[in-house]
Amino acid sequence: MNCPICKDKKYVSKKSFNYAQIEKCECSYDCKICNNWGHIPFYKDGYRYLKKCECKKIDEKIKRYNELRIPARYANKKLSNFKIEMFNKVVADTQKGILKTLNTYIDNFDLDSKGIILYGGHGVGKTHLLIGLLSHLVLNFEVTGLYLDFPQWILENKSLFTNFNLNEQLQAEMNRITTVDILVIDEFAKNRTQFEKETFEKIFYERYNKRKIMFIGTDYEITNKGNGKYMGDMVSPALFSRLGDFNSFEANLLIGDDYRLN
Ligand SMILES: [Zn+2]
Ligand SMILES: [Zn+2]
Repeated sequence: MNCPICKDKKYVSKKSFNYAQIEKCECSYDCKICNNWGHIPFYKDGYRYLKKCECKKIDEKIKRYNELRIPARYANKKLSNFKIEMFNKVVADTQKGILKTLNTYIDNFDLDSKGIILYGGHGVGKTHLLIGLLSHLVLNFEVTGLYLDFPQWILENKSLFTNFNLNEQLQAEMNRITTVDILVIDEFAKNRTQFEKETFEKIFYERYNKRKIMFIGTDYEITNKGNGKYMGDMVSPALFSRLGDFNSFEANLLIGDDYRLN
């Protein structure tokens, strides 16, 4: 290891109040390979080509991460620091199983990978796992992503939906949501109005039809209509049946106590 500050990751976390942010580590301010040009020339069959320098790849990685919109309070949520329940073996085993599933998912990841649904009661760690998975993929593969807490996103973007003059801005926002490589939809289907429901389903279908990856977090029951809220009552029957499409999604039930209340 050459740099004790970033442990050779070349980036460090940056203080921020809204979204989690990282920045280049001081060990990497200057690139001796390309003199900060970002490209390296090479020759093949008498022609000159350019390839990306490692330093440019770091810049791009930092940019992709900083665009994820992970709330700052979740900045350090990683799969590696997910805490396994200590006093309940059933819960612990489920958590270990899901971590194993997610790590296998990472090992085999490509843009044709399925989506993932994590469901289970409030506070069992779905958001932690979804964010840990998303940031790992974006930091280790050349993919873009976005974290969307859907009800929160509706709140923050109310003005876009009600002000006709902001149409272009809304279009750009919708574009980004439907085209990023990986979209995390947390609080899935927690819609209050018909309008929210329609916007939500529109986003879902656009991505579903283009086979774009979605990671879904929800506390609605999916497999059986037990006690608690049932996903089948919250979304249209057509969308609900898509969630059960095993070619598109792997569903994982997370059980556990609400650690935020303990
Ligand atoms: Zn460093
Ligand atoms: Zn360079």
